[in-house]
Amino acid sequence: MNYDFSKKVAVVTGASRGIGRGIAIDFARNGANIIGVYVDSKKTYDEVKQEIGELGVEVEFIQADVSNEDDVNDLRRKTFDAFGDVDFVVNNAGIHHHIKSWDLSLEDWNRVITTNLTSQFLVSRAFIPAMQKRKFGRMVNISSCVAYSGTDHEVHYAASKSGTISLTKSLALELAPFNINVNAISPGYIHSDMCTFDSKEQELEIIKTIPKGRIGVPPDIGKMVSFLCSDGADYITGQMFHVNGGLIMP
Ligand code: NAP
Repeated sequence: MNYDFSKKVAVVTGASRGIGRGIAIDFARNGANIIGVYVDSKKTYDEVKQEIGELGVEVEFIQADVSNEDDVNDLRRKTFDAFGDVDFVVNNAGIHHHIKSWDLSLEDWNRVITTNLTSQFLVSRAFIPAMQKRKFGRMVNISSCVAYSGTDHEVHYAASKSGTISLTKSLALELAPFNINVNAISPGYIHSDMCTFDSKEQELEIIKTIPKGRIGVPPDIGKMVSFLCSDGADYITGQMFHVNGGLIMP
């Protein structure tokens, strides 16, 4: 255990798989109780729930489409019913969609923007009043390195992740007087269902572009999130952190 998060409550969206699972596990390893959010994968969330429970903390998983206002209101209600309060919120849930801009429909543009960006607004807004009341809160929003580098096959995804950066800075300004810190993490390549490779050769070619010489793993992000929620990060807000093995250095 690096931090004492006992009695803390953390909401992690997209905790059923990939990076969100890594974030929830790191929180739990440090003693935080967990509300994990998933939308679809019941089977995976059962396994993750068990894995987290074995770390000796309380854990609930709630199904909610984080791009849907009613679902998010329901998530807030269930979180307070279960734990009475919330200390940490991590806006991690997201989707991607490979397509060239000229073939991209408005419907798919909207789907990616609402799932990745509007959701971060909705979930943040749902928990801000309780954090304001207690004068304590830590929020971490997951962006992406493509917010900085651009990408040639998913303009909607890159735009949503750039939106996360402005959202984070603006929330940080509004919420600093309430002792609520808001920061963002921009991962590079991290092994997950979202980040797979067509072949071993393709993976090795990509690894050659990463100074640290490996693809990241979810705990790389989980450890950074826990640090940002720890006492050591008390004076850090409105900042963007690149966890990418040196892939880009904006
Ligand atoms: P992933 O393995 O595909 O997992 C996505 C997670 O988001 C799942 O838990 C999924 O829930 C949840 N989710 C998706 N849509 C949702 C919705 N509408 N409502 C609630 N939950 C929803 O992806 P990942 O790689 O872990 O990515 C996590 C975050 O990191 C994303 O924001 C992604 O953009 C960002 N990121 C990833 C990488 C990378 O290389 N992996 C790089 C940069 C940024 P279900 O399991 O129920 O479907």
